[in-house]
Amino acid sequence: MTATAEDVRRSYARDASGMTMLPDAVLRPRDEADVVDAIRAAASAGTTITVAGAQTSTTGASITDRGALMSLRALDARVRVDPVARTVRASCGVIVADLRRACAEQGLLFTPDPTSDESCTVGGAVACNASGARSFAYGATRPHVAALRVALADGRVEEYRRPRIGKNTAGYLPVQDPVDWFIGSEGTLGVVLEAEFSLLPLPARTTGLAVPFRREADALGFVLAAREDPAVRPVCLEYTDAEATGFMRRAADDEGWARGAAAMVYVEDSGDSPEAPLDDWLSFIESHGGLADDLRVFEGDAALREARRLRHAVPSAMHERAAPFLAKGGRRVSTDWAVPVRHMSGALDASRRAADARGIEHAVTYGHVGDGHPHQNWVARDPDELAAREGCVEDTLREVLARGGTVAAEHGIGKLKKRWLPLQLGERQFSMMRAMKHALDPQGLLAPGNLW
Ligand SMILES: Cc1cc2nc3c(=O)[nH]c(=O)nc-3n(C[C@H](O)[C@H](O)[C@H](O)COP(=O)(O)OP(=O)(O)OC[C@H]3O[C@@H](n4cnc5c(N)ncnc54)[C@H](O)[C@@H]3O)c2cc1C
Repeated sequence: MTATAEDVRRSYARDASGMTMLPDAVLRPRDEADVVDAIRAAASAGTTITVAGAQTSTTGASITDRGALMSLRALDARVRVDPVARTVRASCGVIVADLRRACAEQGLLFTPDPTSDESCTVGGAVACNASGARSFAYGATRPHVAALRVALADGRVEEYRRPRIGKNTAGYLPVQDPVDWFIGSEGTLGVVLEAEFSLLPLPARTTGLAVPFRREADALGFVLAAREDPAVRPVCLEYTDAEATGFMRRAADDEGWARGAAAMVYVEDSGDSPEAPLDDWLSFIESHGGLADDLRVFEGDAALREARRLRHAVPSAMHERAAPFLAKGGRRVSTDWAVPVRHMSGALDASRRAADARGIEHAVTYGHVGDGHPHQNWVARDPDELAAREGCVEDTLREVLARGGTVAAEHGIGKLKKRWLPLQLGERQFSMMRAMKHALDPQGLLAPGNLW
């Protein structure tokens, strides 16, 4: 179960952050007893353990150079759907998309849908409170978690279930529901062994529409209108700027697609009627400046998978673009901020002004604009370029916070974004986080360097 050979350690030394950290050892537990043994051994030796799922973290949360890296991929992959209770229980190493397919086979919808769902694990999705395009309609992972089985830092294994009551005044809010302690805790408070999720009925039909716009302002106005107008009921509202749309065009191998577009909005409409309300959508698109002639409709599972592949091409392309510069101290710089949606256009403008002031290019922008949550990406080719782009990120985050936003909406803080957390949280909030960490992991055994 324990490997210390350098080759093995190197193969777990990177995640999607572009950082490299070589662990002292790699642990590959096969079952729950192995996890507990590893935790107890680390506690008595005074060493540390950082848990890793699929290592798709963009923040360095799943790598470490302090103590052991515990990969949970070799644990049994178990999925149990209960169609009557409309729940699914899965072990932490199960791939999120496999879980969704298992639920769909029973006519049920597992809603959390991070773009990385074909590679990321259930444990990672819980530990990062992952969200995705359809979180616009269904929320992030957190509201769908019904119960967790967790190995704690003292080696005990506990099952926590959300209270099934509408009212509760017993104690401070953070103690009322321990399930919430672990969701989004980035491996710092416990090891999630299994998770149970509530499910929804699978809609009979989902239709995707990729709508190009000649002007970004029209695209963002369309998003605001589509959120409010009862004429349409989108379950997702995703955005790509001109350059990101270009990545999608190339992935589609169709150089003519949306050629004159300054932006694209991808919407999905789900329902139980066999026909999509295309007439309603076309009228709505035309009345909000969309280029209806260049619209693309995605219907059926294969077409929806293709739409997903095209959107996934954007972060993948930026990742590939940055890869040659990793060895020279460069990397992809990526934001994960969110603002109340009506402030999105103002926040994007402020960020572009900050880029102009620093003499750098505007970021490639794409993502979950329906939630006021666009991702901005730059490629830094060396440490100087990195410092300039991180400076622009800081300027942007100050503008975001001034508009009531957050510095990290879904990718977490990990190691890469620790410097942004104090922009948002005050000392009192940090001291409450420290108290929680101390209560659950007084030795600091789990995921050292994440969040703090
Ligand atoms: C191309 C790309 C697209 C992405 N798109 C999205 C997106 O749309 N939405 C989104 O939210 N994220 C996205 N991400 C980020 C990432 O995929 C998610 O955060 C994902 O949930 C991480 O899962 P993982 O299995 O890879 O976890 P890892 O990267 O291995 O670990 C992430 C964190 O979770 C902890 N962890 C992992 N398993 C456990 C466990 N069983 N118990 C306790 N802690 C654990 C680790 O210690 C670490 O802190 C994207 C990443 C990439 C590379």
